[in-house]
Amino acid sequence: MFALQFDQLDRQAELRINPAHLRELAQQADSSILPVHRQQLLTQDDSLLWLNWSELSDTVEEIQDKHLIYLGQVQGADQIKHYFSYRLTEPDYFIKQFPSVLLKGLRELLPVLSEAESFLANVAIGIEHWHNTHQYCGYCGHTTYSKLAGFVRQCSNQECAKEHYPRTDAAVICAITYQDKILLGRQAQWPENRYSVIAGFVEPGESLEQAVAREANEEAGLTVTNIQYFGSQPWPFPQSLMTGFTAEATHPSIELKDHELEHADWFTRSQINELVGCSQLILPYKYSISRTLIEHWRNS
Ligand SMILES: [Zn+2]
Repeated sequence: MFALQFDQLDRQAELRINPAHLRELAQQADSSILPVHRQQLLTQDDSLLWLNWSELSDTVEEIQDKHLIYLGQVQGADQIKHYFSYRLTEPDYFIKQFPSVLLKGLRELLPVLSEAESFLANVAIGIEHWHNTHQYCGYCGHTTYSKLAGFVRQCSNQECAKEHYPRTDAAVICAITYQDKILLGRQAQWPENRYSVIAGFVEPGESLEQAVAREANEEAGLTVTNIQYFGSQPWPFPQSLMTGFTAEATHPSIELKDHELEHADWFTRSQINELVGCSQLILPYKYSISRTLIEHWRNS
């Protein structure tokens, strides 16, 4: 199981059409609202700050439907609990009232959050980011407004009235092996000694497997066969869906064609063990699908 996956959330999309009912659900005493601001979350002592309706009412001038996003419900042992996020426009106002509250990004919080909290925070941040970057209609340039509990933005120009939906960018990530070695590469801007498997965004008109083959060729000059789907993981930095693959190179010679990588090489398991042991190789973030792919190969 990858990080950022939690199968207990029922998104209840059919409830999104009724803002008045959602407002009632949000006002229930056991409903939880997660304030979000610019891909950051309010935290206190490294815990997410979930608010109920009255706590949120105390800290914003007016709770507006356009900022309230319905994430869904979770069936507990004896009751259903509803989860919302709220797009805070003025976190300073909030933070001034509660000096111990800090804004933190998800990357910083993942190590301390539970599986369910990581997942819900990821959904909330992903939607909030989409709202922030889709304030204007891409067809006519007029402003857009939020509807359907935050899952649609509609153009305010009545002649256009286009509906815009949250974006998720498809990306591929692939552990390429040749005999008993795995390909690891690094980008120039990464921290020193940090290496990972190759990855890239899917281009229009391309299948996932074609994207894997193209990226292998562009980044490392490799031809790959036996491309196998491994699994997927939402990757909210800022709005990707990482689809993981394994593949085998037909030859070992590496050529950094597009220079996205500054260095790439083949590593055996024992080389990785040795280099990681003396910190000359730093593997990807523990919660990433790239790390899962590498660990899967190391343990195979
Ligand atoms: Zn428009």
